[in-house]
Amino acid sequence: MAFKIATIKGIPIYIHMTFLLVFLLFAFMFDITRFPYGFAGVEPAMLRYIFSVAAAFLFFVTLLIHELCHSILATSYGIKIQGITLFFFGGVSMMENPKDEKMVEPSKELKIALAGPLSSIILGLLFLGLNYAAFGVFYGAPLISGSIMIGSWDILYRDISVLLFLVGALNLILGIFNILPVYPMDGGRVLRAWLAKRYSFQKATEIAVQTGKIFSVVMAIVGIFFNLWLALLAVFLYISAAEEGKAVKTTFMLENVTVGDIMTKNVITVDESMKVSDFVNFVFQNKHPGYPVTHNGVVTGTITVDDIKRINEAERYALTVKDAMKTDVISVAPETPALDAFEKMNVNFVGRLVVLDAGKNLAGILSRTDLMTAINLRSSLTDTSNLGPDYSKKNKPADEKDKDQDKNKS
Ligand SMILES: [Zn+2]
Repeated sequence: MAFKIATIKGIPIYIHMTFLLVFLLFAFMFDITRFPYGFAGVEPAMLRYIFSVAAAFLFFVTLLIHELCHSILATSYGIKIQGITLFFFGGVSMMENPKDEKMVEPSKELKIALAGPLSSIILGLLFLGLNYAAFGVFYGAPLISGSIMIGSWDILYRDISVLLFLVGALNLILGIFNILPVYPMDGGRVLRAWLAKRYSFQKATEIAVQTGKIFSVVMAIVGIFFNLWLALLAVFLYISAAEEGKAVKTTFMLENVTVGDIMTKNVITVDESMKVSDFVNFVFQNKHPGYPVTHNGVVTGTITVDDIKRINEAERYALTVKDAMKTDVISVAPETPALDAFEKMNVNFVGRLVVLDAGKNLAGILSRTDLMTAINLRSSLTDTSNLGPDYSKKNKPADEKDKDQDKNKS
């Protein structure tokens, strides 16, 4: 649910759908909040919109700088960064593969985690300092009501000053907030690095995610009584904690699994020449929503129930599957890591991939359901406390003692 907006220093930058919502929400909040925390009352309205959007945009740019600071430092330690995804508060820098993230030395992880908040605090001071240097105040000096003339430069100066103040203050808050030991914020990553010395990486993440969720619920309750901004922040914090926890789980459960291991073999295909009306009956008989389309044994496209929804009853008798199918076949090989296939589905917004072997013959189908079944099966069969790196080695003897005691009991 993310799309790419740019590539900086070889690092692709993605925006998560939720971030767009947050961007608009920020602009809206600036638009309705009074001086000095927003531009409510600024006339003409167009000027108010421009300042509100500009403040949200500038904040978004500083958020990106924050993320880049993490990523560039990580890159300098030889950790490959797959990309940056901007969620709410903070964003996420994706490491090339989960093993890298696990193998980062705790001291380096600490520096990488702190690089972001440090950059935010510096940016915050920079914006506030710039404001002070230019206008002699930290936020626009309030004009005495009645003396405001539309089009007066004073209003423009005041609004520019408020803009600098808002971006500066938000960066300070972002920096300080991110030091709190709440996952997935940076301080929470530090907490996880510390927990990972004692528990497995997966277990450490679980504990950190739970801590993050509990913290955001408390924060939301406090926010409802004292400050709605805080409550809003808590909601997004909760969502990102849950999302991150899910992503880490997926990564772990799909480690060392290939598409061939979990794909559906014996795939039912339809021929290009099948009438759409016959295809409808075919779907009812076979009970799958989507099928690969073949012609002379070669896969030429895919067709799903959605593809024929808009075709009316009469046309269904005239048209064939070839007319309705999607011709861009998104395929993977049986050797492809399952995690890569999962990402391919997300990037292309599809629910199933065609699996083609080296000879371009149909080997199977990989659906989202196949992936989820694999994740659920593996997580129910795996004791997560045993996953992850061997930071926990020194605790092993104690575990074994426990096991021995269990044996004696039984
Ligand atoms: Zn950060």
